[in-house]
Amino acid sequence: RAARDGVVDCFIGPQKHLTLDLLDAIDPLDLDEYMRHGGFESLKKCLTQLQPEQILDEIEASGLRGRGGAGFPTHIKWRTVRRQVSPTKYVICNGDEGDPGAFMDKVLLESIPFRVIEGMAIAACTVDAHDGIFYVRAEYPLAVERIRNAIEICRQGGILGDSVLGTEFRFDLEIREGAGAYICGEETALIHSIEGGRGTPRIRPPFPAESGLWEKPTLINNVETLATIPWILRHGGKELAKLGTATSKGTKAFALAGKVRNGGLIEVPMGITIRQIVEDIGGGVEPGRTFKAVQIGGPSGGCVPAELADTQIDYESLSAVGSIMGSGGLVVLDDKDCMVDIARYFLKFTQDQSCGKCTFCRVGTRRLLDILDRLCTGNGKQGDLEQLETLSTSVCAGSLCGLGKTAPNPILSTLKYFREEYEAHIAGYCPAGKCVDLIDYC
Ligand code: SF4
Repeated sequence: RAARDGVVDCFIGPQKHLTLDLLDAIDPLDLDEYMRHGGFESLKKCLTQLQPEQILDEIEASGLRGRGGAGFPTHIKWRTVRRQVSPTKYVICNGDEGDPGAFMDKVLLESIPFRVIEGMAIAACTVDAHDGIFYVRAEYPLAVERIRNAIEICRQGGILGDSVLGTEFRFDLEIREGAGAYICGEETALIHSIEGGRGTPRIRPPFPAESGLWEKPTLINNVETLATIPWILRHGGKELAKLGTATSKGTKAFALAGKVRNGGLIEVPMGITIRQIVEDIGGGVEPGRTFKAVQIGGPSGGCVPAELADTQIDYESLSAVGSIMGSGGLVVLDDKDCMVDIARYFLKFTQDQSCGKCTFCRVGTRRLLDILDRLCTGNGKQGDLEQLETLSTSVCAGSLCGLGKTAPNPILSTLKYFREEYEAHIAGYCPAGKCVDLIDYC
């Protein structure tokens, strides 16, 4: 690693570490060590030198978009909460990371908890909130423990409490543990869960920024977004904007997994290509195997075939090829992977996790899964592919929240790029030799 202008170049490929730069470099709970690396300088600057409007201008200049998946401009969300006239507002850190194979938030919370706390405190002083909540999944016990200890250390160090860093600003944090429902990563379901209700999404508007937790204005950002905030205030929004593309600025953390030789947590500048991630960082697939596709964005995303591996990692480019940025899951597939089975795997996940509120999501995903099960067990029939397409379109259109609206993406993208594999399954043959039942059937 080599530090330059606040950006750490990682020698494993063309990475840029902004949020992960202190990973394994400091003791996660050593406040003095974090401060020696510039920790809480940004918060101090925000409390003593900058007006809230200046902070918002820096965030806007950075071009930061929410890293939780939707890519909504962060400064607009913050400005909306700031505009609300209310004596009570909340800031929530969404640490309910649930995509299969994703662990970006987990590592950030476990390794650099003070940085996320600093991001939350900056958000709070900007939007005029005094209470913050960490919503972290209970399946991350070490992250919960580290955050709990870090909050206590900050209280004792005068960073949280009635007088943050000796100023008149009051801010404190508490933790709520999620009970393992994927849908609670959706903002309105998360709020219901904190309020003690069942984690189900509701129709928007009103948006949480206007009426959120306990019907008060609520700012919800994901872990990676908040972890990027201190860097922006320290180096200036324009510095972050120098990285990335015209519309997608900065860096993005990914959990690189699947059939790649160097898997793990990576952070790359926006605009890097899929091929650079797979080959230069991941080291490519194993010798003798062929790189086939990547699934980006977890169960909400889509498969991008190897022929399109020069696609840039940015919100618009990924959308143009039928995928999404998502929260940072990136699974590499090779010639031994069956694309029908991959679609079935992700659909089974979303089907299991559907909260059941909407008919199209609850029943539609079940019917889609039935067809994929048939195809993978040698019982596919003519007309199945057309039914998959029609039903997928209906599920996308008729579902209330992002889970249902994006659940068919793995099917639609694999049908688009690997239709011949679906047709082979109807003919009773699995080209990848993956569907065991089908091989027996053959
Ligand atoms: Fe629940 Fe699915 Fe409807 Fe979302 S789309 S509210 S997960 S049933």
